[in-house]
Amino acid sequence: MDSKIIKIILFLLIPLNSYAVEFQGSFKQGSFILGKTIPTSKVFIDKTKVRVTKDGYFAFGIGRDRKNNILIKITNDGKTEIIEKKVLKKEYKIQRIDGLPKKQVTPPKEVYDRIKADNVLIGKARSINSDLTFFKEKFKVPLKNSIITGVYGSQRILNGKPRRPHYGLDFASAEGTPIKAMLDGIVTLAENDLYFTGGTIIFDHGHGISTLYMHLKDVDVKVGQKIKQGDKIGTVGKTGRSTGPHLDIRLNWFDVKLDPASVLKLN
Ligand SMILES: [Zn+2]
Repeated sequence: MDSKIIKIILFLLIPLNSYAVEFQGSFKQGSFILGKTIPTSKVFIDKTKVRVTKDGYFAFGIGRDRKNNILIKITNDGKTEIIEKKVLKKEYKIQRIDGLPKKQVTPPKEVYDRIKADNVLIGKARSINSDLTFFKEKFKVPLKNSIITGVYGSQRILNGKPRRPHYGLDFASAEGTPIKAMLDGIVTLAENDLYFTGGTIIFDHGHGISTLYMHLKDVDVKVGQKIKQGDKIGTVGKTGRSTGPHLDIRLNWFDVKLDPASVLKLN
């Protein structure tokens, strides 16, 4: 064999010795990323260790305003590989809503304790780090024939005052329209009347990936229940702080709020 061919063969063999890592999802602000590597690997995202499934899957997400590169460290058999990924910028809309009643923009003092208690409940559900593996499956849209009226990341200006960005994806739909689960999951929160979000459901899909559905008229599930993708979980409403009937869905990686559109096939 001539040396050129040997060199080519060596070149082809070398990559087999380094770690095979694959990513699904673009490294863009707000994106959900699904990774796959050698099952016995340890994976760190920005120095934080994440779970890896028995078949090598792991998940993480990129925050709305993330600018720094992401470091993915993978160790296996005493060998370490560090992958550095650049984060692509996403353009966000500015959404102005004027003429809102004052109490919709700034909640009255007497509800502060209630809001605090709601946030504790939601925060607890989002912090769960279970070994469920539903997150590696494909998500499906929760409503049929609905119009998207709000997108992730929009900067909101209510009555002229800049407020927190909108982290959800809004679907306008008639009150009472059935809502389907986007993915298999375990219910970790099911509340009828939270101050901002009204009828609210949170699902754990494993590894810190959770979804949240808000402003529901009816909540048809209970905490601890295992729900299949496509099961009816409730109906569209306008409960909580909402200007009209719509479904607002959220996607989280622990406390990092992600763009639900990054996992859905929208037309
Ligand atoms: Zn919304």
